[in-house]
Amino acid sequence: WWSSVSMGPPDVILGITEAYKRDTDPKKVNLGVGAYRDDEGKPFILPSVRQAEERLHCKMLNHEYAPIGGEAGYTDLVAQLAFGEDSPVLKEKSNCTVQTLSGTGALRLGLEFITKHYNQTKEIWMPSPTWGNHPQICNTLNLPHKQYRYYDKKTHGFDLCGAMEDISKIPAGSIILLHACAHNPTGVDPKKEEWIQLSQVIKDKKIFPFFDMAYQGFATGSVDNDAFAVRQFVNDGHQVMLAQSFAKNMGLYGERAGALTFLCGDAESAAKVMSQVKIMIRTMYSNPPLYGARIVQEILSVPELKQQWLADVKSMADRIISMRQQLRAGIEGAGNKQNWQHITDQIGMFCYTGLNADQVAKLTKDHHIYLTKDGRISVAGISSKNVNYVAEAMHKVTS
Ligand code: PMP
Repeated sequence: WWSSVSMGPPDVILGITEAYKRDTDPKKVNLGVGAYRDDEGKPFILPSVRQAEERLHCKMLNHEYAPIGGEAGYTDLVAQLAFGEDSPVLKEKSNCTVQTLSGTGALRLGLEFITKHYNQTKEIWMPSPTWGNHPQICNTLNLPHKQYRYYDKKTHGFDLCGAMEDISKIPAGSIILLHACAHNPTGVDPKKEEWIQLSQVIKDKKIFPFFDMAYQGFATGSVDNDAFAVRQFVNDGHQVMLAQSFAKNMGLYGERAGALTFLCGDAESAAKVMSQVKIMIRTMYSNPPLYGARIVQEILSVPELKQQWLADVKSMADRIISMRQQLRAGIEGAGNKQNWQHITDQIGMFCYTGLNADQVAKLTKDHHIYLTKDGRISVAGISSKNVNYVAEAMHKVTS
């Protein structure tokens, strides 16, 4: 029955990890991995998550189905985390928030909802570059997607002029995809004043903003700071759509805890949207998994656990920031004449180093350091043990 199926291309990131695993050199380093690692290079279980698990274990909960859109206790808390506890939109109950299969599930559900129920220009504008799965999901759904300028190769920073110019030409009623914080793959975020300008032009041009927030807390170490863009847009009157993930900021990667929110203007529209989202979920996977959502709910509802979690997130963000500083200092200390300021200017898990494909190939071949061809490194893969080795190798391939 399946002999006519053609072989699909392997996933780029997973391919890097496979090559890394095959390498037998003891000095090898994997900078392709998209998950946080501690300073020993190991997966990190957050102390707050451990405590939440122990509390859940004592509760002896059953394994009945969750509601189609997830538990209301969970969706209320995650919406508060994103929009702020005093957010008027939450008080009015004009939001429709459902649990999703992590951030990817939120994007997929949200974009699929757009294909069925959005009655304006069905065209998604994404930053250039963006996370590879964004265009792939649109392709699967036959949703046209285009790009606006975002990353400036010359400065390794945000191209405000290019972005403003491109966005101002987007047809009214189109959808713009925005990374709320810690842009993947570049690590480059607009500054607060720049977000304010972006919000204005998007409003003036009647464009619909869809935020992808996969790293709340991971960029600056503060969940409120990292939600600045989303909250600014809401204050400016945008009815945003928001995809959230707890993969990174709670280390719940495989538990698939995420959420999708539609701001609908009033409670009546929110109820209608909810009725249609539920139909969509019911016919895809019936209802979401319980375990990860229970951990999130426990952490966000118990004040001591929440305090612990905020400290845990900050400790991860701080380690990343410190590794950026040490990497830059190491390359400069080796006598490299190029400007490496972007390593410490960029934020979040990823850094767009500016290395070209040849330099990346050399880094892998001569130094056993694995990363994507576009020169993106996962700073989480750097530790106090390997930072000098990586810095030395980056110096060698760029001089
Ligand atoms: N959006 C972006 C920009 C991401 O980087 C990621 C994780 N790599 C996600 C969404 C979703 O991840 P997950 O499905 O694991 O929550």
